[in-house]
Amino acid sequence: MFKNHRALAAVIALLSIPAAAQNAKQAEPPKSLRLYVLDCGKITGVNGDSMGFKPGELKTADMITPCFLIVHPRGTMIWDTGEIPDSAFQSGVTPQKQGAFTVDRPLLPQLAAIGYTPADITYLALSHYHGDHVANASLFASSTWIVQKGDRDAIFAQRPTNEKKLGGVGDPAYFAALKNSKTLLLNGEDHDVFGDGTVVIKFTPGHTPGHQSLYLKLAKTGPVLLSGDLYHYPEEITYKRIPSFDFDKDQTAKSRAMIEDFVKKNNAQLWIQHDYTAGSKRKIAPEYYD
Ligand SMILES: [Zn+2]
Repeated sequence: MFKNHRALAAVIALLSIPAAAQNAKQAEPPKSLRLYVLDCGKITGVNGDSMGFKPGELKTADMITPCFLIVHPRGTMIWDTGEIPDSAFQSGVTPQKQGAFTVDRPLLPQLAAIGYTPADITYLALSHYHGDHVANASLFASSTWIVQKGDRDAIFAQRPTNEKKLGGVGDPAYFAALKNSKTLLLNGEDHDVFGDGTVVIKFTPGHTPGHQSLYLKLAKTGPVLLSGDLYHYPEEITYKRIPSFDFDKDQTAKSRAMIEDFVKKNNAQLWIQHDYTAGSKRKIAPEYYD
């Protein structure tokens, strides 16, 4: 009991540190593009049924759910924001669990450890509106939100308040603070974020109406394509399976064909964000890819 109280006090202390203090070792803009992978949790105890797989076809049905911080000489962008909000950690319970989701550590302390607070984040972009990608989106309400019209319309559409499951739009509370955010609305189009071709949002609809992927041109690592949930498992490429709950499966197939061609032409690595096996081997912040 005493131990729990101490843990709770520590979390409250952490959450109440003034922004200026958290900013004590604010990061300098780097000379070239950086990609930080942040640990935003995992999804376990699921099977591949809804993704169209039979038992034994998947190496593992477990998934990881990373968040990514992109740091460009001219600004920063957070790409996806996790599956359980940081506010849940105020209970003092670690790890946090919600259904199939498990998160060991909140997002903001991971950003603070590399010198960033939400005030330092120029852009917020979400691959799509599903609950496992958006839990901390409202923490970045002061950033410019880059979002496809198809997803933004669905996020703020009237819907049952109890609709929180994986196949649907994330909990409305996760987006509440974004309604009046400075917003760069994309109408089914790609977007070159910093204007130099190194950080490009690719419109890849199907999984959701406004699903997007992210192309990064890293100097040493080479080009990387973060595919959001265009795929969840590498076996979706080999078996050509498309999740049954996709908004538009034909669109998914077209987006996949376009991205597979794009990746080949640009000699890019395809990073399936939920890929447990490949993802577990990647460098986690404070390490980074450049
Ligand atoms: Zn997902």
